[in-house]
Amino acid sequence: MPEGDTIFRAARALDQALAGRTLTRFEAPRLPHRPFPEGTVVLGSEARGKHCLVHFDDGRSLHTHMRMTGSWHLYRPSERWRKKASAARVWLEVAADGERAGWVAVCFAAPVVDLVDRIDAGRPGADPTAHLGPNLCEAGADLDEAVARLGRLSPPEREIGDALLDQRIANGVGNVYKCEVCFVCELDPFTPLHEVDEPLRRRLIETSSRLLQANLHHSVRITVEGGVAVYGRRDEPCRRCGTPIAWRPQGPQARGTYWCPTCQRRPTSAGPAPEGPG
Ligand SMILES: [Zn+2]
Repeated sequence: MPEGDTIFRAARALDQALAGRTLTRFEAPRLPHRPFPEGTVVLGSEARGKHCLVHFDDGRSLHTHMRMTGSWHLYRPSERWRKKASAARVWLEVAADGERAGWVAVCFAAPVVDLVDRIDAGRPGADPTAHLGPNLCEAGADLDEAVARLGRLSPPEREIGDALLDQRIANGVGNVYKCEVCFVCELDPFTPLHEVDEPLRRRLIETSSRLLQANLHHSVRITVEGGVAVYGRRDEPCRRCGTPIAWRPQGPQARGTYWCPTCQRRPTSAGPAPEGPG
């Protein structure tokens, strides 16, 4: 699943290729839409969490969400696509401009492709990203709000590794960062939220934000010296204590969770026990 940093880089590449250029073609085979007027200009592209937006000067924005399968590619007009055309959900072309060549931007296999009225601040009605928590990929994201949402939007028995994936709480964290953040904070990802006190909640959110922002500008993800700490390292030795890294599915979507069963603990100063079984 693309994490927030991946979408951020994709949106930035789209922005660099498309912003200020005249749209010459827009195809979205499965999306009923009004054609773009001749001379429509692409204003730019941005990521909001895992949502990618491309804004046009006719007042509309293209909204895509990659979920597990989608990806954006950029090609020169004569270049061969690296995936089958039948998998393209939307593609757009911009004209060459002076010394700058044209581009074809293709979105493959994204489950969410919409054209929406342009999303501006103060016009929340049509905003498909309005439910999202603070974007942890952004410097200056409201971390207090994310910490508050963690308590407000998650039941106390929900496991912290599952809660960190909830984009309404804070957006940008995916399955890789969920595992890495719990490792850095030395916390068992299966700890129920009610055992995670306020300072530790804050540390989890701050660590998520720091790791995401540290990885915005390169494609090899680095969360600890040498790469990732636990993600994808089942049975390999923990970088901290040498214990083999464990793995098991977690949460309603059975997302594979990697952790060190020795040095990632449930907090010793647990909060009040949950009432009743379960
Ligand atoms: Zn360990």
